[in-house]
Amino acid sequence: MPKLIIKITDLIGADTGILDKFNIAAKICSPDPENIKTENQISGQVILIRIESGILGNFDLKTEIELSCARCLRKINLPIHLKYQQEFSYSGANPPAGALNPDIQYTIYRDEADILPSVQQEILLSVPLKPLCEKKCQGIK
Ligand SMILES: [Zn+2]
Repeated sequence: MPKLIIKITDLIGADTGILDKFNIAAKICSPDPENIKTENQISGQVILIRIESGILGNFDLKTEIELSCARCLRKINLPIHLKYQQEFSYSGANPPAGALNPDIQYTIYRDEADILPSVQQEILLSVPLKPLCEKKCQGIK
Protein backbone atom coordinates (compact mmCIF):
# COMPACT_ATOMS: atom_id res chain seq x y z
CA MET A 1 0.00 0.00 0.00
CA PRO A 2 1.41 3.39 -0.97
CA LYS A 3 1.47 5.94 1.80
CA LEU A 4 1.62 9.66 2.27
CA ILE A 5 3.65 10.01 5.41
CA ILE A 6 4.16 13.12 7.51
CA LYS A 7 6.92 12.94 10.08
CA ILE A 8 5.58 14.36 13.31
CA THR A 9 8.50 13.69 15.64
CA ASP A 10 8.45 17.19 17.15
CA LEU A 11 4.68 17.32 17.53
CA ILE A 12 4.34 14.06 19.41
CA GLY A 13 6.34 15.35 22.35
CA ALA A 14 4.80 18.81 22.17
CA ASP A 15 2.20 20.38 24.45
CA THR A 16 -1.43 20.52 23.43
CA GLY A 17 -2.11 23.39 21.08
CA ILE A 18 1.29 23.37 19.40
CA LEU A 19 1.01 23.20 15.62
CA ASP A 20 3.17 22.58 12.63
CA LYS A 21 2.63 23.32 8.95
CA PHE A 22 3.48 20.90 6.19
CA ASN A 23 3.52 21.56 2.48
CA ILE A 24 2.26 18.63 0.50
CA ALA A 25 3.18 17.88 -3.10
CA ALA A 26 2.79 14.28 -4.12
CA LYS A 27 1.24 11.91 -6.59
CA ILE A 28 -1.29 9.61 -5.03
CA CYS A 29 -3.06 6.52 -6.22
CA SER A 30 -6.78 6.64 -6.87
CA PRO A 31 -9.25 5.63 -4.16
CA ASP A 32 -11.40 4.10 -6.89
CA PRO A 33 -9.17 3.27 -9.88
CA GLU A 34 -12.03 1.98 -12.05
CA ASN A 35 -13.94 5.24 -11.98
CA ILE A 36 -11.55 7.92 -10.85
CA LYS A 37 -8.13 8.70 -12.17
CA THR A 38 -5.86 10.84 -10.03
CA GLU A 39 -2.70 10.93 -12.07
CA ASN A 40 -2.21 14.54 -11.17
CA GLN A 41 -0.38 16.03 -8.26
CA ILE A 42 -2.05 16.67 -4.99
CA SER A 43 -0.72 19.83 -3.42
CA GLY A 44 -1.39 22.30 -0.68
CA GLN A 45 -0.95 22.60 3.03
CA VAL A 46 -1.73 20.53 6.07
CA ILE A 47 -1.64 22.06 9.53
CA LEU A 48 -1.27 19.52 12.30
CA ILE A 49 -2.19 20.52 15.84
CA ARG A 50 -1.30 18.53 18.93
CA ILE A 51 -4.50 17.77 20.85
CA GLU A 52 -5.02 15.62 23.90
CA SER A 53 -6.18 12.54 22.02
CA GLY A 54 -3.58 12.79 19.28
CA ILE A 55 -3.29 15.13 16.33
CA LEU A 56 -5.88 17.28 14.59
CA GLY A 57 -5.26 17.90 10.91
CA ASN A 58 -6.50 20.95 9.03
CA PHE A 59 -6.32 20.01 5.38
CA ASP A 60 -6.27 22.45 2.50
CA LEU A 61 -5.34 20.52 -0.62
CA LYS A 62 -5.99 20.71 -4.34
CA THR A 63 -6.01 18.04 -6.94
CA GLU A 64 -7.68 17.16 -10.19
CA ILE A 65 -9.47 13.94 -10.93
CA GLU A 66 -10.46 12.43 -14.22
CA LEU A 67 -14.00 11.13 -14.54
CA SER A 68 -16.30 10.09 -17.35
CA CYS A 69 -19.36 12.17 -18.18
CA ALA A 70 -22.46 10.30 -16.97
CA ARG A 71 -24.27 10.98 -20.26
CA CYS A 72 -21.74 10.95 -23.11
CA LEU A 73 -18.82 9.15 -21.41
CA ARG A 74 -16.42 11.87 -22.48
CA LYS A 75 -13.51 12.40 -20.11
CA ILE A 76 -13.76 15.31 -17.71
CA ASN A 77 -11.00 16.81 -15.63
CA LEU A 78 -12.53 17.99 -12.41
CA PRO A 79 -10.57 20.24 -10.06
CA ILE A 80 -11.13 19.26 -6.45
CA HIS A 81 -10.51 21.37 -3.40
CA LEU A 82 -10.20 19.34 -0.22
CA LYS A 83 -10.76 21.52 2.80
CA TYR A 84 -11.53 19.55 5.92
CA GLN A 85 -10.48 18.56 9.41
CA GLN A 86 -9.47 15.10 10.48
CA GLU A 87 -8.43 13.73 13.82
CA PHE A 88 -5.60 11.23 14.07
CA SER A 89 -5.00 8.97 17.00
CA TYR A 90 -2.06 6.86 18.10
CA SER A 91 -1.77 3.19 17.38
CA GLY A 92 0.82 0.79 18.62
CA ALA A 93 1.93 -0.34 22.03
CA ASN A 94 3.06 2.82 23.80
CA PRO A 95 0.93 5.86 23.03
CA PRO A 96 1.60 9.01 25.05
CA ALA A 97 -0.66 9.23 28.10
CA GLY A 98 -4.30 9.84 27.20
CA ALA A 99 -3.53 9.79 23.49
CA LEU A 100 -5.38 6.73 22.33
CA ASN A 101 -8.87 7.00 20.95
CA PRO A 102 -10.22 3.75 19.52
CA ASP A 103 -13.00 5.63 17.70
CA ILE A 104 -10.57 7.37 15.39
CA GLN A 105 -9.80 5.28 12.34
CA TYR A 106 -6.86 7.31 11.10
CA THR A 107 -3.76 6.54 13.06
CA ILE A 108 -0.30 7.65 13.92
CA TYR A 109 2.37 5.01 14.13
CA ARG A 110 5.56 5.85 16.00
CA ASP A 111 6.30 9.36 14.76
CA GLU A 112 4.56 9.08 11.41
CA ALA A 113 1.07 10.03 10.35
CA ASP A 114 -0.16 8.45 7.13
CA ILE A 115 -2.59 10.99 5.69
CA LEU A 116 -3.32 9.05 2.50
CA PRO A 117 -6.42 7.10 3.71
CA SER A 118 -7.95 10.33 4.93
CA VAL A 119 -7.19 12.19 1.69
CA GLN A 120 -8.58 9.36 -0.43
CA GLN A 121 -11.74 9.19 1.65
CA GLU A 122 -12.22 12.92 1.16
CA ILE A 123 -11.71 12.62 -2.61
CA LEU A 124 -14.42 9.95 -2.73
CA LEU A 125 -16.78 12.27 -0.86
CA SER A 126 -16.07 15.05 -3.38
CA VAL A 127 -16.96 13.07 -6.47
CA PRO A 128 -20.31 14.13 -7.93
CA LEU A 129 -22.86 11.32 -8.33
CA LYS A 130 -23.52 12.18 -11.96
CA PRO A 131 -20.59 14.14 -13.37
CA LEU A 132 -21.43 15.97 -16.59
CA CYS A 133 -19.01 17.40 -19.15
CA GLU A 134 -21.38 20.36 -19.44
CA LYS A 135 -24.82 21.11 -18.05
CA LYS A 136 -26.50 20.76 -21.43
CA CYS A 137 -24.75 17.54 -22.38
CA GLN A 138 -27.03 15.71 -24.85
CA GLY A 139 -25.52 12.30 -24.28
CA ILE A 140 -24.22 10.01 -26.99
CA LYS A 141 -25.49 11.01 -30.43
ZN1 LIG B 1 -21.20 14.68 -21.62
